[in-house]
Amino acid sequence: MKVCKFGGTSMATAKSIRQVEKIIRSDPERKYVVVSAPGKRFKGDIKVTDLLYQADAEKAHYGCAGPAIEEIRDRFVTLVAELGLDMDMDRYIDEVEAGINASSGSDYAASRGEYLSAIVLSELLGFDFVDAADIIKFKHDGSFDADNTNDLVQELKKNTKGIVIPGFYGSMPDGSIKTFSRGGSDVSGAIIARGVGAAIYENWTDVNGFMVTDPNVVQNPKQMEVLSYEELRELSYMGASVLHPDSIFPVREDGIPINIRNTFEPENKGTMILPDISGYPKSSIVTGIAGRKGNTTISLKKAMMNSELGFGRKVLSVLERHGISFEHMPTGIDTMSIVITEKVLNGVESQVIEDIKGKVNPDSIEVIHNLALIAVVGHGMANQMGTAARIFVALYQAGVNIRMIDQGSSEMNIIIGVEEKDYEKAIKAIYSAFFE
Ligand code: ASP
Repeated sequence: MKVCKFGGTSMATAKSIRQVEKIIRSDPERKYVVVSAPGKRFKGDIKVTDLLYQADAEKAHYGCAGPAIEEIRDRFVTLVAELGLDMDMDRYIDEVEAGINASSGSDYAASRGEYLSAIVLSELLGFDFVDAADIIKFKHDGSFDADNTNDLVQELKKNTKGIVIPGFYGSMPDGSIKTFSRGGSDVSGAIIARGVGAAIYENWTDVNGFMVTDPNVVQNPKQMEVLSYEELRELSYMGASVLHPDSIFPVREDGIPINIRNTFEPENKGTMILPDISGYPKSSIVTGIAGRKGNTTISLKKAMMNSELGFGRKVLSVLERHGISFEHMPTGIDTMSIVITEKVLNGVESQVIEDIKGKVNPDSIEVIHNLALIAVVGHGMANQMGTAARIFVALYQAGVNIRMIDQGSSEMNIIIGVEEKDYEKAIKAIYSAFFE
């Protein structure tokens, strides 16, 4: 049995939804379908989820949702008419509008795009609609309740007709709606795949899978055919945005493969994400290159730091007290640097610096902004000499100054910090060193 998740672009228009229908009907194994809210129909269009956040903001400002709801109404009424479905969409939109006006917090509003999208598709397919609120559960503290959810999802195996489930949300113990972070329908799909024991989790989107690097930086980069869970985790954490980075956790334990597919090019095999790829021949030592801008480094120097017991712990305790998690921590003999995402330091940076000074009394402390991190990822790197050399030569030849280097002990990634202005140049240089 397969679980298929269809993203926002796949659910955006009557034409794309017809294509979704065709894909589902072409394989009787495709019995569990998870959907996103309708996304953009054209460049500059607004996703239904964003309209719903707008509706919620309208409610917060004026006491009730207004124009945004009417736009959503328009989209769904047109959609069902074009699909030739006999559904009273106005009734559903009225229900959503009343719900937004009565709810506190934005999660309920944000979740309704998936809710409506799943109702429409279930009607078109003649599948059952199962509300995610009834099967995907969160605990009182807001964390995901994996065990409870898994028991509830397993019950779906009794269904023989086929099921459509809205992605992106679940419910709290008091029944209120809670969403995952943006793009979270990917996570919902993975949760359903685990619960029903799917043979494969197909994630249908609008690209042919993972590209070796960001197509906005390198034109027409190569497509990845296979990658491992671990590589995916590294790449998506570092900015490769095809799949939500948390999608691995639910399927990891049971080793369920994830196949990224393109709704608009279904003949392309896409990218296969597997627990173990050691049996696959690889054309390059490097699997992928990803990166993101917007990082800050705090660099400390102190004579004899290395022999000062508890130095690192004290510095990190300051971050912990401020609720800040860090990305990397390269250290020297008497130096220590901590790389942190810029936005988590916003507003608290000077206080953090003062607290570190007070705690460990360093000889100097320097803050460097606008650092871009680039991860070069691949299992092949572990037993291959010269990978780092190739990266550094490429960067040297491109005239890129390296500000930081960090190689994980797993030896499946090398992280490089460069100035933001050099980011695109650096990615291009590394790409051509390994793939051209
Ligand atoms: N619709 C939600 C978003 O735009 C969730 C999703 O599509 O996965 O983030």
